[in-house]
Amino acid sequence: MAQKPVDRGQEYVRIEGVTKRFGDFVAVDNVSLSVFKGEIFCLLGGSGCGKTTLLRMLAGFESPTAGRILIDGQDMAGIPPYDRPVNMMFQSYALFPHMTVEKNVAFGLEQEGLSKSEIAKRVSEMLDIVKLGEFARRKPHQLSGGQRQRVALARALVKRPKLLLLDEPLGALDKKLREHTQFELINLQEQLGVTFVVVTHDQEEAMTLATRIGVMNKGQIVQVGTPTDIYEFPNSRFVADFIGSVNMFDGQLIEDEPGHVRIRCNELESTVYVSHGISAPPEAKVAVAIRPEKIEMSRTAPISNENCAQGVVKEIAYMGDLSVYLVRLESGRMVRVTIPNVERHADERIVWDETVHLSWHPSSPVVLTI
Ligand code: ATP
Repeated sequence: MAQKPVDRGQEYVRIEGVTKRFGDFVAVDNVSLSVFKGEIFCLLGGSGCGKTTLLRMLAGFESPTAGRILIDGQDMAGIPPYDRPVNMMFQSYALFPHMTVEKNVAFGLEQEGLSKSEIAKRVSEMLDIVKLGEFARRKPHQLSGGQRQRVALARALVKRPKLLLLDEPLGALDKKLREHTQFELINLQEQLGVTFVVVTHDQEEAMTLATRIGVMNKGQIVQVGTPTDIYEFPNSRFVADFIGSVNMFDGQLIEDEPGHVRIRCNELESTVYVSHGISAPPEAKVAVAIRPEKIEMSRTAPISNENCAQGVVKEIAYMGDLSVYLVRLESGRMVRVTIPNVERHADERIVWDETVHLSWHPSSPVVLTI
């Protein structure tokens, strides 16, 4: 979903050269990052890459070994979790099973010692926002997974934090509910103007929710950008491979001009012509990354003898909205191609063992040097 552009002028969280060691192990490695007011910033990475540790440092449950964290301009060193303008929603939701929805949401406010009438007002407002007004008297076990998730969210938001940290917020929901809840979360965020930092290993979740994504690998942030930046302009083999599907070919630069480059790849017969320049040393070893949906597949040969390949269809997976084809080139290399199923009738569709011609636009390949 296209997010509203973020006002980059208003930095809300600033992470400066933050490192976290556990003994000899470096869990977070010299991370610097800004999160702007009103953003949904997703930290995305595989298991163990350090994203939860970074989130816990923002919350104040861990302290950095080096570097500093500023929230709203204030250095958080030595400030305990309860004194930060931050709330955290945990993966497990951690609802109190013996308490009603209403009581669960009120709990944090009671701890703060607010008056009964103020608590009642804020709880009822918040339950309306997350559309749980009619479930106020139920207990968590009488709710669906999605409803429990909304109770947890209400409980985290009722304290009006400026910054909400969410650890895999939709992990417990099935696919359909996740999609639905993702959009609810975006609406809610827009309505309340809270800044969200979300940790997830699920790239689809990050792509849907995020204004910007920070991709993490081995304790480091390897790329920060909008979902479109990250998908269309990955800055490394790691990011290209981690986000979405990609066909990656190792190659060598044979022509390097400001407005275009030519690359020879062992696994492709034709050369790859790319209609933009890159910065790489002459004859550098590079990788060409082409997304499956950017490859055209046809029974007839393309006119150009560049940016094309010939092969035989070896696998077809029908996914409803699109079909995935695996095409074996003469070099033996398998190439993944996705074709949207625009037509309902399948008479013209390419089938198993057909010989096909693949081609792509010169602007489609991403050339990667690291
Ligand atoms: P996941 O998606 O699996 O939760 P993650 O990216 O959130 O992964 P972290 O929980 O941040 O990963 O952990 C990063 C690394 O730091 C892991 O290798 C983990 O084992 C290690 N680690 C985390 N907490 C501690 C701790 N208290 N003591 C020692 N090592 C820890």
